[in-house]
Amino acid sequence: MIEFNLNYWTPLVINFFRYFIMAGIPFLIFYRLYPDFFSKNKIQDRFAKQKDFVREIRHSLQTTLIIVVVGILILKTPLNEWTLVYKNLFDYSLWWVPLSLFLTLILHDAYFYWIHRFMHHPWVYKRVHLVHHKSVNPSPWTSYSFHVYESFLEALIAPIILCLIPLHPLSLILFTTISFGFNVYGHLGYEITPKWFRNSYLFEIMNTSTHHNIHHATSKGNYGLYFRFWDRLMGTEYPDYVKEYDEIQDRRFGHADGQ
Ligand SMILES: [Zn+2]
Ligand SMILES: [Zn+2]
Repeated sequence: MIEFNLNYWTPLVINFFRYFIMAGIPFLIFYRLYPDFFSKNKIQDRFAKQKDFVREIRHSLQTTLIIVVVGILILKTPLNEWTLVYKNLFDYSLWWVPLSLFLTLILHDAYFYWIHRFMHHPWVYKRVHLVHHKSVNPSPWTSYSFHVYESFLEALIAPIILCLIPLHPLSLILFTTISFGFNVYGHLGYEITPKWFRNSYLFEIMNTSTHHNIHHATSKGNYGLYFRFWDRLMGTEYPDYVKEYDEIQDRRFGHADGQ
């Protein structure tokens, strides 16, 4: 039998609440309560419309449901036997928790980059990925706004990870929360990285909200999720990304500081 302790409702509740809390709070702060205060952080001048938010939430709810179904299929059916999920936290050293999380993010980043490149093939783009790109000016609600086929493809990372990397359920919840948090940041529509970020090594390896916003504005280049690694390696990073990032940060902090 399946040894996993979470019942069927837990993943459903976690995923729905996570979407509405983690996308809803930033939306409230940046789009409803303090848009003037954050006006210098805004990546694109204009705002998306109400009908965009409604469409994005509708598609995101569908995606959330698909993620839960895929999660339940892999964790609550005999397919579970194929996974390396371990229930006792001390089956592995405690240091394995952060290390497994790190490996999971690396694997997810590679998976996302290549399925994203695949979805930009004109035939697939038109039929599947276009739903996500209807949000030319993304908001936190865009985070899970996918066509149903894309939702399945995105959700498939869970069984892949669970069959390749031994994960404690806690690490799985941490991974999906970090992943969704980064997803919301990528679609925030506002750049919020601090000034020091530009001169740190992190800027060279991490994606920013500006990075993914350019992907939505132009529909090409900047295919990566968490890291710049694959885009830089494959020569798909938008050529003016750093210039556009610097322009936003100069507007926020007053002068260029990062050459
Ligand atoms: Zn895309
Ligand atoms: Zn996006």
